[in-house]
Order: sequence, then C-alpha cells, then structure tokens
Amino acid sequence: MRSVAFSLCIRRQSYHVSVRQLNDCEHKDLVYCETVSNRGLPNEQGPPMEPYRFKVAYDKLVIAAGAEPLTFNIKGVKEHAFFLREVNNAQEIRKRLLLNLMKADNTGLPVEERKRLLHCVVVGGGPTEVEFSGELSDFIIKDVHEQYSHVKDDIHVTLIEANDILSSFDVGLREYATNQLIKCGVRLMIGIVKEVHEKKIVLNDGTDVPYGLLVWSTGVGPSDFVKSLNVLKSLGGRIGIDQWMRIPSVEDVFAIGDCGREGRQISSEFVQQDR
Ligand SMILES: Cc1cc2nc3c(=O)[nH]c(=O)nc-3n(C[C@H](O)[C@H](O)[C@H](O)COP(=O)(O)OP(=O)(O)OC[C@H]3O[C@@H](n4cnc5c(N)ncnc54)[C@H](O)[C@@H]3O)c2cc1C
Repeated sequence: MRSVAFSLCIRRQSYHVSVRQLNDCEHKDLVYCETVSNRGLPNEQGPPMEPYRFKVAYDKLVIAAGAEPLTFNIKGVKEHAFFLREVNNAQEIRKRLLLNLMKADNTGLPVEERKRLLHCVVVGGGPTEVEFSGELSDFIIKDVHEQYSHVKDDIHVTLIEANDILSSFDVGLREYATNQLIKCGVRLMIGIVKEVHEKKIVLNDGTDVPYGLLVWSTGVGPSDFVKSLNVLKSLGGRIGIDQWMRIPSVEDVFAIGDCGREGRQISSEFVQQDR
C-alpha cells in the first residue's frame, strides 16, 4: 500500500489535501479528496485556488485524522479562545501576549483595563494545561518581568478547572503539581465556565473573570470529518475499532491514533457486523 498523503504530494506538489469522504455506495475502495490551500505551490501569494477534487483508490486504508478540541458547545469559546493543538495556535498565543503587553504600556489606560489585558486564563486542569500554565508563568517571571518590569505586579496566570487539577493522577502527584503551580505564581480557581465573551468569562455561579488572553484545552473529541463518516462510532463519537485497529463495518480500513477508539461497549456490535 502506498501512503495516500505521499502520493498526493507528488501529484499536486502540495501537502494540503483534505479527505472529504470515504467510498460511496457504488465504489467501495476510493478516498475522495480536495486541495485546501495554495501553500507550497508557485502561486502561493496569489488568490486562493479553486479546490482541486480527485479520488484515490486504495487496497488498504489507514485513517489517522486526529481529533479536535472539545468546547462542549459553550458559547463564545470557538470565537474568543486559543486552543493548544497546532503550531499556529502557539504562534497566535505568543502574538496575543506580546500585543497585550504593548497595549498595557499605554500610559492613559485605566488600571482595570490594564489588569484585564495582562490576565492570562487557562481553562482545563489536565496535564497539557498544567504544563502550559507553569511554562507561561515561568516565562512571565523570567522574561516578562525583566523586559516589562513596570507590568510585573499586574500580569497573572489563572487556571480554571471544574474539579481537581490532574484528576486522573494519584493524590501525591496532584498535590505536588498544585504546590509547584502556586510556587510559579499560577492562581488556581475551581469553576465551571458558562460562556465566553470577548473580554470576560462568565462562570456558572455568575462570577465574571476578565481576561486578555484565554487558552482553552479541555480535551479532544471527534472532528467533523470523523463525525461525517458512516461507520460505527465508539462512545464519545470516535471511530470504533477492534483490537487490531480495524473498522469492522468497512473492509480493509483501519483507524489509528486520536481518531479511533477501541471500546468494550461496542465490541458485541462489532462481532455481529463482522460475521
Ligand atoms: C499540547 C499537547 C500536548 C500533548 N502532549 C502529549 C504527551 O506529552 N504525550 C502524548 O503521548 N501525547 C501528547 N499529546 C497528544 C498527542 O499529540 C496526540 O495523541 C497525537 O498527536 C495523535 O496523533 P494522530 O496522528 O492521531 O493525530 P494528529 O497528530 O492530530 O494528526 C492528525 C493529522 O491529520 C490531519 N487531518 C485531519 N483531518 C484530515 C482530513 N480530512 N484530510 C487530510 N488530513 C486530515 C490533521 O491536519 C493532522 O495533521 C499532546 C497533545 C497536545 C495538543
């Protein structure tokens, strides 16, 4: 089997190809694709290209389309928060932080607005968010305090979590992480986010939390592409796979990584479909 992405790179000299659909009723072993970007092509700077649509035949197909950040459909998250998934997310976070530092330099700014701009909020208390909050606070203490010494009393990191941080880890580790975060200057807040506005978060208990930078990382779930696939799903909506990563309802198709999940709850249905 040739790698689908590799064969597409050669043909279109582009790495930006999106799989739209697998198979249709008549043609069993086809992947339907379209280009999604000019990047890497000679006219990169030009207007967006019309998507180029094509099909790729396969003998064996491995789907590894990853997952997408979960927002639980909370109003305003997609519009106002930054996610912690891809390189461009990291670049956007850095850009926003530096922009807010520059804005906070404005001498005519009311104190409350200055504090808002410099308030960095992280939602989610899993390993990624704990690590990120600690790193951000470390960066603030080591670099920002030196370069922007006049803002050092106003810049803060708050981590909001509905339960304990690192709830899947044992108590000793949780306590250690909590102490380390507090030592780094991270404020820990227990709360459930109800909605997100451009400049503030509203919690379930009615508390307003003004912010200048909001980073959202509350786990991952199925992407729209995975949702659109007409295959059996595991609990949580990822592609249901058996212990050999096969998708039992489609012959010669496998799912690996974050897009698939093996589940005991669905195994009986797998068995029925496999027959
Ligand atoms: C901040 C962060 C920290 C992490 N830290 C750790 C860690 O310390 N240890 C650990 O084990 N895991 C960690 N993880 C999780 C780990 O990154 C993922 O489990 C892993 O990347 C999943 O790999 P994947 O190939 O399934 O998906 P991804 O790495 O998400 O790759 C999927 C790719 O498929 C592409 N794609 C999606 N849909 C289509 C489509 N329709 N057509 C074509 N291409 C498509 C996407 O653009 C993407 O490039 C971390 C994740 C994050 C976000």
